[in-house]
Amino acid sequence: MKTLTLKNETIYTGDLILVNRDYRYHEKKQIPLSEIPENHGSVLLHHRAARALSLLMNAVSGWQGIVATSGWRPFSEQQRIWSDSLKENGRHFTETYVAVPGHSEHQTGLAVDLALKQPLIDPIRPHFPYEGICQLFREKAPQFGFIERYPDGRESITGIGHEPWHFRYVGIAHARIITKNRLTLEEYIEQIKAYPFGKRGLSYQGNGRHFTVSYQKASASGTTILETEDNVCCSVSGNNSDGFIITEWKQTEKA
Ligand SMILES: [Zn+2]
Repeated sequence: MKTLTLKNETIYTGDLILVNRDYRYHEKKQIPLSEIPENHGSVLLHHRAARALSLLMNAVSGWQGIVATSGWRPFSEQQRIWSDSLKENGRHFTETYVAVPGHSEHQTGLAVDLALKQPLIDPIRPHFPYEGICQLFREKAPQFGFIERYPDGRESITGIGHEPWHFRYVGIAHARIITKNRLTLEEYIEQIKAYPFGKRGLSYQGNGRHFTVSYQKASASGTTILETEDNVCCSVSGNNSDGFIITEWKQTEKA
């Protein structure tokens, strides 16, 4: 058996943290950021998300027609975007399309805004249509760990208007489960709670691997201890509210 010791501060870190109007981002001192390679202009993402985006763009020859317009933002930049938009676009527009400072996924480094390459790009609502190269990107995105985060018709759940341009990195297994089941991240994080760690987890087969996803509420003592099997790979993310999401996988086919 392997023992995992999880401190409560881990609740606020990892690829699956839910940041929205209800759960603010707990700013960390240092996010490991990388510049998105080959992009026109400097856009930073968490290094795992930057690498996944680069692989995805290469798979669809995306750089010919797509540009990343925004990635990681510090709190101060989100604050500036919010107050500029209030002045220029008014409260209704701003509350629909701009996350309240402290509550933006862009502060995590795991979210990216993309635009179809055009001479003029709207910085708040870039054009990223459901056709051509943008649609090809969208269809391949889950295979590389990205989801379209704010779908049409789910505004009451996400708290954000339909944003065809905003993608969030969550990791391959999770992106595939979310997309296949047409879930929002809010619904997925909630549903995982029905799969407590150590019991039968949420199962997913893909990429030559068998994944099991489960949830563990954080211990009130401040430290949560989990035991996993020796022959299973495992990663842990906080959910940004009260516990941990554990992803375990076994290779089922030779790579
Ligand atoms: Zn965005």
